[in-house]
Amino acid sequence: MTAYLVGAGPGDRGLLTLRAAELIARADVILYDLLIGADALSGARADAELIYVGKQGGGEQVPQDATNTLLLEHARSGRTVVRLKGGDPFVFGRGGEEALALRAAGIPFEVVPGITAGLAAPAYAGLPVTQREMSSAVAFVTGHENPAKPETALDWPALARFPGTLVFYMGVGSLERIATRLVEGGRSADEPVAIVERGTLPGQRTTLATLATVAKRAAEAGVRAPAITVVGAVAALPEQLAWLEARPLHGTRVAVTRARAQAGPLAARLRELGAEVVEAPAIRTRSLRAELPRLTGSDLIVVSSPNGAHELFAALERSGRDARALAGHRVAALGPGTARALREHGVIADVVPARAVAEGMIEALEALPIARALIVRAREGRDALPDALRERGVEVVVLALYETVAERLDAGTLAAAAAADWITFTSASTVRFLAEAAGGAVPEGPRLASIGPATSAALREHGREPDLEADPHTPDGLVDALVNAG
Ligand code: SAH
Repeated sequence: MTAYLVGAGPGDRGLLTLRAAELIARADVILYDLLIGADALSGARADAELIYVGKQGGGEQVPQDATNTLLLEHARSGRTVVRLKGGDPFVFGRGGEEALALRAAGIPFEVVPGITAGLAAPAYAGLPVTQREMSSAVAFVTGHENPAKPETALDWPALARFPGTLVFYMGVGSLERIATRLVEGGRSADEPVAIVERGTLPGQRTTLATLATVAKRAAEAGVRAPAITVVGAVAALPEQLAWLEARPLHGTRVAVTRARAQAGPLAARLRELGAEVVEAPAIRTRSLRAELPRLTGSDLIVVSSPNGAHELFAALERSGRDARALAGHRVAALGPGTARALREHGVIADVVPARAVAEGMIEALEALPIARALIVRAREGRDALPDALRERGVEVVVLALYETVAERLDAGTLAAAAAADWITFTSASTVRFLAEAAGGAVPEGPRLASIGPATSAALREHGREPDLEADPHTPDGLVDALVNAG
């Protein structure tokens, strides 16, 4: 019987500690707050009991006594209890009170520190809280001072004299009072101030000001909690050091509609560039478990997608064969992703057209002598390539190894996609199935990014003109086009 007081970090999932992740995965019960990151709980067990003890309906906090009682009850029942808090549990998190309650009840506990917002938000804003010759001390201060409660009163003259950086938690509503008191206490009205809202989260925004201007600036910008306010010379450094907010896709919400199994690399690249990714997989692939014909006699094998490559090798394996069955055959991959997938299975494609579309493949094959070709693809694939080859007198076998079917999208995911700045479409089927899921039409509102001509044609069939079409017609090309679209 041990209770764990665990910090979840400031929001970005990557800033959750290994120990926190381990305990979240093990917990029977998790008592959590509002300010933990949206997916901090995604690693919890499916049968874990998750209890919210933050603000109720955006209003009053669950009273601390009630939280303590819950904590003790669950710990006494012998279950593994994790008390998960935003940032660090002992920094303005009332973790100390909970530890005292556990100690008084004789329940052993462990504390797992987290990265506190007062360090993480400045770091993500490009603001070093200490800096040689600028600031050699940091104070964490609560800005949430209730004038009606004398016991919470801060010693403002002492804070004003503090020889270093002041980091205020809470209190975005009291910026004017904070600034006035510091200036009254002797800080220069020109002293830099930085407010970092939603630090480390996709909507992070930094507002720079001085003590003289901060109240007005914050009101103009509509600054809202949660935010960290930093006062001191270092608060001007984001002008030079901002990195997260300087990313090309920062603040841009991009929906990715491709199959979950294939969305990873595209989503990761978009996130690296600062985008907030909405994963809305409109399709998934389903193996048809088709039988692979004898390959002897085919002098060309065309693979039209990464999934087709994996299915090809699965089909070989089902029939007791392996990569050696492709020995002696010329292998063509429709695009670089397909070539990569083939390489994973030990086969280097002989032909990869410069343009990753059927027309590019037709061109790339033009000069090659081919008598018999096997085309491995999805059931719903286009016929442009087999038709063109047959016209040349090639004997063509089209083998559908999988089909693309609709993936169920829940209402929340659809709403998030419809509220995005961009929806990316990486195949005609993503257009068709997203429209179907959304009640027959591609959502109005977001701009539409198409990976290539066939996808753009599908959008036009749905009465929509793509706002951009990638060139080259690859996921990387799509990302570049989004960056260039600004
Ligand atoms: N224990 C937490 C602090 C809880 S007090 C920690 O160590 O971070 C709540 C205050 O933390 C908020 O009012 C805000 O000032 C700050 N805060 C928490 N998460 C934040 C975030 N992602 N960005 C900016 N400030 C944040």
